Amino acid sequence: MRAFAMLKIGQTGWIEKERPGCGMLDAVVKPLALAPCTSDIHTVYEGALGQRHNLVLGHEAVGEIVEVGGEVKDFKAGDKVIVPAITPNWRTHAIEEGVPPQHSEGMLSGWKFSNIKDGVFSEFFHVNDADMNLALIPEGMTLPQAVMLPDMVTTGFHGVELAKVEFGSTVAVIGIGPVGLMCVAGAALRGAARLFAVGSRPLCAETARQYGATDIINYKNGDIVEQIMDATGGHGADHVIVAGGPSEVLEQAVRICKPGGVIGNVNYFGEGEFLRIPREAWGVGMSHKQINGGLTPGGRVRMERMAALVMHQRFDPGKLVTHTFHGLQHLEDGLELMHHKPADIIKPVILI
Ligand code: NDP
Ligand code: ZN
Repeated sequence: MRAFAMLKIGQTGWIEKERPGCGMLDAVVKPLALAPCTSDIHTVYEGALGQRHNLVLGHEAVGEIVEVGGEVKDFKAGDKVIVPAITPNWRTHAIEEGVPPQHSEGMLSGWKFSNIKDGVFSEFFHVNDADMNLALIPEGMTLPQAVMLPDMVTTGFHGVELAKVEFGSTVAVIGIGPVGLMCVAGAALRGAARLFAVGSRPLCAETARQYGATDIINYKNGDIVEQIMDATGGHGADHVIVAGGPSEVLEQAVRICKPGGVIGNVNYFGEGEFLRIPREAWGVGMSHKQINGGLTPGGRVRMERMAALVMHQRFDPGKLVTHTFHGLQHLEDGLELMHHKPADIIKPVILI
């Protein structure tokens, strides 16, 4: 089968691979829609996962099942499914201990696609534990909507969960690419009153407003800490969600956050050995400002719940999709868009 892969750090290309086999609990799926992700860019061009050779890229897919293992109960060939980016092993000691499933076999081990096994950018791909990790695409959901669920929606909403957003609160979302935009949508659903969105591109700012942002802060117009502190009369935000930017944004988040407030981080920090916490802004260690960071949840129930929000018209993730391509061969074009991020892109989708 043909697959689009990371050949080595900094280089992508098409390769031939054997079609994956299917374990007793697993499924083999052919993609119906795929989406390249900023994380693929970190993997290929920044070596986020270290050196890899001929690793098939991609972790955002919806598809049609072509084969299931003998022990799979709820799915069959022909079913159209949402495939979460995170597909944990649900049968581990760590899960019984209460460790988040994302880490059930070690830190970040739930992130399997294009990390510890081949990703989804190919004619066929393997999904472990189909009954626990797949969800049916609901009748009436479009493929571009559906393919936003495996990562963009669940990650953005996880930022909101990590920041513990409450009714009537002031929330700041730093970064409004597709992930941050879903943080905005999620924070609005969770009852944020004033909702700051930090970004520079006008299209993202406009989309943030549509998803519920009340104030747009352009980080290119000066320090975002000053801008948000000024706008809130020096009080800051109850909840700060970090979904983009360099390592310094975590420091800024601590400064923007009120005492007793919560920071939720879903951003990937790719530089330096340490992240900095500003000592005084963190109350010399006693501010009760919490910092939570997490890998997005995956699995079947999570996908079903994200899909239910769309089907009951709580929000429309389809607005994230600015570019649509037809045909597997266009994965390359989609990835290039994510690499260079022209002003008019939020998220590309490749329909197969
Ligand atoms: P994008 O690159 O599309 O968006 C990044 C956003 O950050 C943009 O709005 C950009 O603004 C903004 N930004 C850039 N620099 C700064 C700065 N100095 N200060 C404030 N804002 C800034 O990324 P995605 O939305 O696709 O992904 C966001 C992050 O989430 C990535 O790091 C990705 O790897 C990570 N991620 C994490 C997951 C998880 O499970 N935790 C899962 C998926 C992704 P503009 O472009 O307007 O200038
Ligand atoms: Zn992704």
